[in-house]
Amino acid sequence: MKFSWRVALLWALPILVIGFFLWQGAFSSSAVTAGNNAAATRMSYGRFLDYLEAGRVTGVDLYEGGRTAIVEAVDRDLDNRVQRLRVDLPANDPQLIARLREANVSLDNHPPRNDGAIWGLLGNLVFPVLLIAGLFFLFRRSSNAPGGPGQAMNFGKSRARFQMEAKTGVLFDDVAGVDEAKEELQEVVTFLKKPERFTAVGARIPKGVLLIGQPGTGKTLLAKAIAGEAGVPFFSISGSEFVEMFVGVGASRVRDLFKKAKENAPCIIFIDEIDAVGRQRGAGIGGGNDEREQTLNQLLTEMDGFEGNTGIIIIAATNRPDVLDSALLRPGRFDRQVSVDAPDIKGRLSILEVHARNKKLASEVSLDAIARRTPGFTGADLANLLNEAAILTARRRKDAITMAEIDDAVDRVVAGMEGTPLVDSKSKRLIGYHEVGHAIVGTLLKDHDPVQKVTLVPRGQARGLTWFVPSEDQTLISRSQIRARITGALGGRAAEEVIFGDAEVTTGAGNDLQQVTNMARQMVTRFGMSDLGPMSLESQSGEVFLGRDLMTRSEYSEDIAARIDAQVRTIVEQCYDDACRIMRDNRAVIDRLVDLLVEKETIDGEEFRQIVAEYTDVPEKEQYAAIL
Ligand code: ADP
Ligand code: ZN
Repeated sequence: MKFSWRVALLWALPILVIGFFLWQGAFSSSAVTAGNNAAATRMSYGRFLDYLEAGRVTGVDLYEGGRTAIVEAVDRDLDNRVQRLRVDLPANDPQLIARLREANVSLDNHPPRNDGAIWGLLGNLVFPVLLIAGLFFLFRRSSNAPGGPGQAMNFGKSRARFQMEAKTGVLFDDVAGVDEAKEELQEVVTFLKKPERFTAVGARIPKGVLLIGQPGTGKTLLAKAIAGEAGVPFFSISGSEFVEMFVGVGASRVRDLFKKAKENAPCIIFIDEIDAVGRQRGAGIGGGNDEREQTLNQLLTEMDGFEGNTGIIIIAATNRPDVLDSALLRPGRFDRQVSVDAPDIKGRLSILEVHARNKKLASEVSLDAIARRTPGFTGADLANLLNEAAILTARRRKDAITMAEIDDAVDRVVAGMEGTPLVDSKSKRLIGYHEVGHAIVGTLLKDHDPVQKVTLVPRGQARGLTWFVPSEDQTLISRSQIRARITGALGGRAAEEVIFGDAEVTTGAGNDLQQVTNMARQMVTRFGMSDLGPMSLESQSGEVFLGRDLMTRSEYSEDIAARIDAQVRTIVEQCYDDACRIMRDNRAVIDRLVDLLVEKETIDGEEFRQIVAEYTDVPEKEQYAAIL
């Protein structure tokens, strides 16, 4: 609470200062309105009496209850020109009015105007209102209250940021392609439904299950399915929501969450992205993050604070189990770990079947073919794919999703939105050569994945694209396959250089080169596929995780580092030479293919191969037969 006030005051100070100036401004502007007719020149009272005597005064307008007057006087010397003069009158001069009447002066009285006062009052109100509004806004923001203004002031106490679903309505049938994980978790359902069965024989029911897998593989869905199958409420919160601006809020959210959960036991608590709070304590440059550590400590305390058989099971999800604090993984906490992997081809097929249930598919659509085309897709990608296809179908006013929509949706999910094709120009031809360069290497190297299509229709960042039929879920890739991929990726640049010359090569190969370097480096440092021999020279984590890993980065001497660089260079140079040779040897067919591509914008893989086969031998590719 006191921290929060300090921050709030810090914010309030500038507002106070600004407000003060605004206030002053408003105040002085309201003062100006009182000086109405301020334009008139001033004249002393004595002078006024002289003028009156001389009969030069023709009119008097009284202001401010008779204390000021604007006097109209004629100047006999100057052609009877009328002057308007301002006079301060003495407070009590009853004779004055009489004298004025005597002199036959036209007399008018203007009662004091009230709106000046109103403006003044409003002006004075502006500042406090601003201040209050400012503070109010601040509190609201800092507390992030979902419940609106009513809760704005008690921000020190955390609001429930977790969601609760009494019935998730998700069953194991809705989760597909992750059968092993499902089997493991089946037991958790039994823990919730029939705890006696376990406690009777003295078994301790686990409190926590950690789901490990990349985003979109269905971890949330699995947790919901457990709750759905067991018929218990589902509490969920994301780890990142624990961590807030104010120290202590995260910890009190954890307390709130567990309190609510205990009231509703048996139930499931689902913590998404637990790595946001559960990172190794003391890691990170400049010490730890107090707030996160407090939150984590609170979480550990709560987990230890209830018995396994109270019917609460905590399911947490992460894709970085390596960064988690070891205390989280100790027995009695998240001691069960279930990995949820990206689905294989059978898994993808069954996920597609789940998501096709409520979609209208034309009879020609083969889910099997889609599953083949989408290695590496997660469940979320596949759900997204079918949804994009459905949207395209509606946009094209068709009754059912056809293969055309599916194809476009795959392209879209993988490579982004379609752009408008370039008009025929030199740069279109150059992109054409670049893409055909990739495609021809891909076609002529035996170990390269076959070309699916080549296109000059831009998509996402890419101005042209060569699609390859991905080999099916390979976990093992041979050296010659990696080399073929490197050569294929260099094909674009090689074509530019061989056809247009050294001076004309473009930035279009930037991405390709990045991939090339990556692959070549991994061959040397991870897979032992170079003259350096079978050694692993790099830690697997890859990403620098600030702090802990920074110290242990290089595991080899500078001498080895230089030799790694040399090896990477050699691999890339050899592959580039191969690619250039392919360009020179096949110049005729490349020219023909580019002409066709510029004209048609897209060539599909089969046609591409047929044209190439008219000029040279095209090697058979194993996996291609399977895909047809
Ligand atoms: P995660 O929590 O692993 O990031 P989600 O469970 O939030 O992934 O998945 C997002 C969506 O993707 C789900 O709501 C569901 O529609 C779809 N999905 C993901 N995995 C699967 C799966 N194995 N089976 C069916 N649908 C899935
Ligand atoms: Zn390229």
